[in-house]
Amino acid sequence: MIPVNSVLQVGHFPELMQAEINRRFSPTCLLDPNAPPPEGNFQAILVRSNTKLPEALVKQLPSIQLITTCGVGYDNLPLGYLKQQGIKATNTPGVLNDAVCELAIGMMFGLMRRIPEAHEFVKSKAWSKGLFAITTTLAGKKVGILGMGRIGQDLAKRLEPFKVEIIYSGPSKKDVPYRYIADATELARESDVLFLACPASPATEKIINAELLEALGPSSYLINIARGSVVDESALLYALQQKRIAGAALDVFDNEPNPDSAFLDLDNVLLTPHIGSATSETRIAMTNFAVDNLEAFFNQQPLLTEVEN
Ligand code: NAP
Repeated sequence: MIPVNSVLQVGHFPELMQAEINRRFSPTCLLDPNAPPPEGNFQAILVRSNTKLPEALVKQLPSIQLITTCGVGYDNLPLGYLKQQGIKATNTPGVLNDAVCELAIGMMFGLMRRIPEAHEFVKSKAWSKGLFAITTTLAGKKVGILGMGRIGQDLAKRLEPFKVEIIYSGPSKKDVPYRYIADATELARESDVLFLACPASPATEKIINAELLEALGPSSYLINIARGSVVDESALLYALQQKRIAGAALDVFDNEPNPDSAFLDLDNVLLTPHIGSATSETRIAMTNFAVDNLEAFFNQQPLLTEVEN
């Protein structure tokens, strides 16, 4: 049981998720995270990983003991302040792997086979005037994964049947049947397609920089389903404009929901509005996972997924 007036929901949740929350309990809502909080003795905050939780807001709520974020990434939380105050945080790992991997694979093929342009080609009747572009086959290529965690490993399993060699990089070698390359730039150099599946953190900020993109090279593709901050967007824009890489499929950006408009002018990109986990099955599972964490907290049970901070 989650006591009434004990949880502050910060930010807007899509209708489907809000209905699921309301089915489980009745939060008090603060739709604008930068507005003053309502009166109340809240012990927990419920937020989505797409909503940045301001440190200033948490500071105004001294009774808060838990932040539950609905999403696996928790770079939206004021982690330094939470650690300093001993405030715990939970996320929703695992339940979104299927949706994120399905999108990542779809984006890869969409980009490499130019499916959105091919669709427009038929719809606009351009087909009657000429042939569509010749594109690229995935089979026989090397696919790199930066971040061989839960999503990275699920992605690799899905890629195996496509007759590719899988290579990966990250802080530690994993117990997986793929070749480990410690250095991210060397991973890029060997990759024909490079997926980003690492978390946003000080260590990964702009890890995809000009040097790495140069190593990736003019016939290779970048797929980012991680976070915008992982990529130096100026360097990526330059690489795309100058055709220093073959193309990029991007689900995440530095400035969401208003990505740098220079991306919109490019013809070697496939852009999606941060929809990695945006399927009804996944969003319902994520919402329930987040509420299960709240219930565990109020029932004085161990949290299901406490984030390392
Ligand atoms: P995870 O299980 O924690 O995996 C993250 C992996 O990244 C780990 O293997 C970790 O390696 C590795 N990593 C950490 N620091 C790194 C670095 N400096 N360089 C390279 N790799 C590094 O997390 P997950 O569940 O797979 O999720 C990954 C990320 O995907 C999330 O943090 C989130 O930002 C993003 N995501 C995006 C969407 C979307 O809608 N597009 C949806 C869900 C998740 P170690 O194990 O060695 O530390």
